[in-house]
Amino acid sequence: MEIAVIGTGYVGLVSGTCFAETGNAVTCVDINQGKIDRLAHGEITIYEPGLEKMFLKNLRDGRLKFTTDLKKGIEGAQIVFLALPTPPGEDGSADLKYVLSVADQLGPILEDYKVIVNKSTVPVGTADKVKDAISKHAKVEFDVVSNPEFLREGVAVEDFMKPDRVVIGTSSDRAKKVMGDLYAPFVRQGNPVIFMDEKSAELTKYAANSFLATKISFMNEIAQLCERLGADVDMVRRGIGSDDRIGKRFLFPGIGYGGSCFPKDVQALIKSSEEVDYDFQILKSVEKVNEMQKTHLIPKIEAHFNYDLKGKHFAFWGLAFKPNTDDIREAPALYMIESLLNSGATVAAFDPEAMNNVKVLIGDKIQYASNQYQALVKADALVIATEWSEFRTPDFGRIGSLMEGKAIFDGRNLYSKCDFNNSELEYYSIGR
Ligand code: NAD
Repeated sequence: MEIAVIGTGYVGLVSGTCFAETGNAVTCVDINQGKIDRLAHGEITIYEPGLEKMFLKNLRDGRLKFTTDLKKGIEGAQIVFLALPTPPGEDGSADLKYVLSVADQLGPILEDYKVIVNKSTVPVGTADKVKDAISKHAKVEFDVVSNPEFLREGVAVEDFMKPDRVVIGTSSDRAKKVMGDLYAPFVRQGNPVIFMDEKSAELTKYAANSFLATKISFMNEIAQLCERLGADVDMVRRGIGSDDRIGKRFLFPGIGYGGSCFPKDVQALIKSSEEVDYDFQILKSVEKVNEMQKTHLIPKIEAHFNYDLKGKHFAFWGLAFKPNTDDIREAPALYMIESLLNSGATVAAFDPEAMNNVKVLIGDKIQYASNQYQALVKADALVIATEWSEFRTPDFGRIGSLMEGKAIFDGRNLYSKCDFNNSELEYYSIGR
C-alpha cells in the first residue's frame, strides 16, 4: 500500500518506519524543514531503541521517503495518517489547531478516494470536525477514521510491531477493509483489531491513559501512607500486584508521571468532561497527587540539609521522563531541578540520551557530565530521577568516594534499603 504520514515526531516516525517495514511505501511529511532534511539524509531525529536500524534499512530500500510538501506527500497514497501534536491549550483542553489546519489543507488537494486516519490523541468528536474541514473543499470521496496510538516511548517499535490491540473507529465498510488489510501483518499472533465507532475509539485512548495515570497516583498515595505508618511500599506493591484483577504493572511509586501524554491527556479528559457538565472527580485528584509527587523528595532534601540549600551541589542521574527515551516533556527531573536551583543550589546531571534536549531547554543553568560517575564529583547529594538500567547496580564505594556529601535521594526506588546497611551513604527513597 502507499501511505502518507503527516507529522514526523515520535508517533509519526515510528509509525511510518514500521509501516515501511511491513512492505508499504511510506512518505512522511513534516513542516520542520530541518527535521525532514536530516531524516532524508539518513540521520535519525529521536532516540528510540531499534528504530534507527529499521529506519536506515527502509530508507535505503526506498520504502521510506520524506518531504515538507503536503500535496506531493499524499500523492498516490491510499491512507493518510495524521500524527500531529495535540498539546494542552490554556484551559487544559486539547489544542486541535495542528490537526484541523492539516485537515483544511487536505480538502482541496485530494484527487482520489483516501482514508484519512487520525492517530493523534484527540477529544471525542474530532473525527467529525476533521470530516467537516475536509468536506468544505473536497471534490472526491474520502473517509475519516480514528486509530488512536498506544505505543510507549522507549519500547515504541516493539509496541508498534506487536500491538496488544489495534483500535479502529469507523462507520465506513470501505475504510474498515483498508485498515484491516493494513494492520493484518501486525496482528498475526492473534491480538485483536477492535473495530468500533469513531467516538468510542477517541475516548478509548483517553480512558486508557487516564486509567494508567490513576494507577500511578494511587500507588503514590499508598507510598505516602507507608512513610507515615512505617510500612514498605515495595512489599505492599508485591502483595497487591499478584492479584490478577490488579496486575503487577504500573504499581511503582516514584516522583510522578511525566511525558507528552499522561499529563496532557488527563487534563484534556477533565476538560472534555466539564464541557458535557460532568465533574470527573477521580481524575482531578489523580492530577493533583501527581503535581505534589513531582517535588515529593524536596522536603526530604531540605530537612537533610537543615533547610539551607544555598551553595549545595546536586548530582542528577536521569533527566528523561522515563528510561530509554530522550523525551523530556513534563519530566519530573526538570521540576526538581528548577526547585533546587531556585533555592540557590547547583546541579550537575547525566542522562544517557536526554542531555541534548535539556541543553536546548535550559542551557548552562546546570552542568552536563559525560558519564554517571563524573556527575558525582564534589556533589553534596545524588538525586535519581529516571530509572535507566545502567543506574541499577552502581559501584556504591565509588559513589561515596566521589561525592563530598553522602546522601542519595532515589526518586525511583532503584535500590534495596539493605544495600546501605553498613554503608556511609544515607539513602532516602519513596514509601519505604
Ligand atoms: P511530536 O511533537 O513528537 O511530533 C509532531 C510532529 O508534527 C512534529 O515533528 C511537528 O513538526 C509536526 N507538525 C506540526 N504541524 C505540522 C503540520 N502542519 N504539517 C506537518 N507536520 C506538522 O508529537 P508526538 O509525540 O509524535 O505526538 C503526536 C500525537 O500522538 C499527539 O496527539 C500525542 O498525544 C499522540 N501520542 C503520542 C504518543 C507518544 O508516546 N509520544 C503515544 C501515543 C499517542
